[in-house]
Amino acid sequence: MAHVCIHWFRKGLRLHDNPALMAALKDCKELYPVFILDPYLHHAQVGINRQRFLIGALKDLDCSLRKLNSRLFVLRGKPEDVFPKLFNRWNVTKLTYEYDTEPYSLRRDEKVASLAKEHGVDVIYKISHTLYNIERIIEENNGKPPLTYKRLQAIVQNLGPPKKPIPAPTLENMRDVKTPGSQKYEDKYRIPTLEELRLDSQFLGEELFPGGEQEALRRLDEHMKRTGWVCSFEKPQTSPNSLSPSTTVLSPYITFGCLSVRTFWWRLTEVYRGRKHSDPPVSLHGQLLWREFFYTCSVGIPNFNKMNENPVCTKVDWDTNQKYLAAWREARTGFPFIDAIMTQLRQEGWIHHLARHAVACFLTRGDLWISWEEGQKVFEDLLLDGDWALNAGNWQWLSASAFFHQFFRVYSPIAFGKKTDKNGDYIKKYLPLLKKFPPEYIYEPWKAPRSVQQAAGCIVGKDYPHPIVQHEQVSKKNIQRMKEAYAKRSSDNNESPIKKQGVKRKAPSVIEMLQKKSRKE
Ligand code: FAD
Repeated sequence: MAHVCIHWFRKGLRLHDNPALMAALKDCKELYPVFILDPYLHHAQVGINRQRFLIGALKDLDCSLRKLNSRLFVLRGKPEDVFPKLFNRWNVTKLTYEYDTEPYSLRRDEKVASLAKEHGVDVIYKISHTLYNIERIIEENNGKPPLTYKRLQAIVQNLGPPKKPIPAPTLENMRDVKTPGSQKYEDKYRIPTLEELRLDSQFLGEELFPGGEQEALRRLDEHMKRTGWVCSFEKPQTSPNSLSPSTTVLSPYITFGCLSVRTFWWRLTEVYRGRKHSDPPVSLHGQLLWREFFYTCSVGIPNFNKMNENPVCTKVDWDTNQKYLAAWREARTGFPFIDAIMTQLRQEGWIHHLARHAVACFLTRGDLWISWEEGQKVFEDLLLDGDWALNAGNWQWLSASAFFHQFFRVYSPIAFGKKTDKNGDYIKKYLPLLKKFPPEYIYEPWKAPRSVQQAAGCIVGKDYPHPIVQHEQVSKKNIQRMKEAYAKRSSDNNESPIKKQGVKRKAPSVIEMLQKKSRKE
């Protein structure tokens, strides 16, 4: 039977290495590539930079599909409301999509899959957002997520290299496939503008990282040409405060799936071949394995984005302090290094990994003693690469709530940035107000004599805030509070269910777990 098929794009906004799209084209007479603007995911609180990236990625996808005599259909609404109408309107017989491990996505997909069944529509999903099938990794570790990077490495070594990416469909693959696209449809299903999404684009800065698969592949090519740089890449040696990024900034493209992580992996393998190169955890392959590590944790650990009911997360008596939180978010802490990073984040939507370290430590265990869950929300809105699993995992790491336990190692909001930028050029770029301060005061303008502040045209307390806390004092106090949280954890928590010895068994798949849960409900 020749199918009428919907391929549902969510993440995976690309044609290359898209096995679910290829599955859609098999025995297909009509193809409807669909993207749904879901109010749960694409609401007005999501930062405008991120929305702009998405719109760019959709335009690029539409353009590539048109080259294959197809197009993208963009709809709005809850997927479970939208699909039944589409199934009927287009007489659909097959639905394909990329598997997504986020809890919201799993619930959504379960609902849509069961609606499809009711409408007699076959459902096919494929894994292509991660290097491996995450459930296989968990299964291989006796049904538990590996809690250390070393353990993950050992498991993936057993599994062998990730699958090779598959090429994008060609006109030949589309020979017998039509996408009905009348004039009526042209307008009805077009990609909205930012204004139509009620976003005010007048405050948008320059688009440094335009969304889309073509841009992703172009950037990947550029990086891969720098063979020396790729082979000697060591993450700790890259700088948080260089004036242009010292790492790849492929993260937004990977998050939205404009770039397949397997394509990235295998391109790196080609560059490494026959050359001396760095290794995980610090190499670029190593970075992709960090991603896999946090994805595995996010699938295997319940309530991964929360402190409570999350078995690996240390319970800490974080303060609620709206004033401190707002100062951090709005770059008004009075520490220029922290405020410059938060300004870059808001303006450009990307900051270096070690810059994320600095501001995450500052918000949580280092200085402000505010919950990592609050920081996670701010990052989710402002980062172009905001990713449920990676954001939650890294925030737990930085706040020493899970994975990393050396809470006594606190980043100084003054000394850390100086290591790679003595002159404070990064601060001058993002906080031009401070640009006339001499290097010896740029990280601590409050220490500058009044005459220096006057000469710099910026009076601390008037034009730029005083430091919100005394770092030396609060960080000592906070280390003490962390010590207490850890002591409490080891007395309460010896029986943490995640730590119990696992027995070798097949892990239930996430879908099976959800099915079991919904049967119970
Ligand atoms: P590169 O160094 O070029 O690395 C290549 C790719 O490897 C990245 O694009 C990313 O996909 C992956 N990667 C690198 N570092 C990590 C890491 N530590 N954890 C997981 N994957 C990694 N990354 C996100 O993609 N989304 C997030 O929401 C996110 N939130 C974070 C929150 C905090 C508090 C911290 C400390 C880190 C967070 N990271 C997040 C991880 C990391 O900072 C970014 O992936 C990285 O800085 C992206 O820049 P890049 O593409 O130049 O990385």
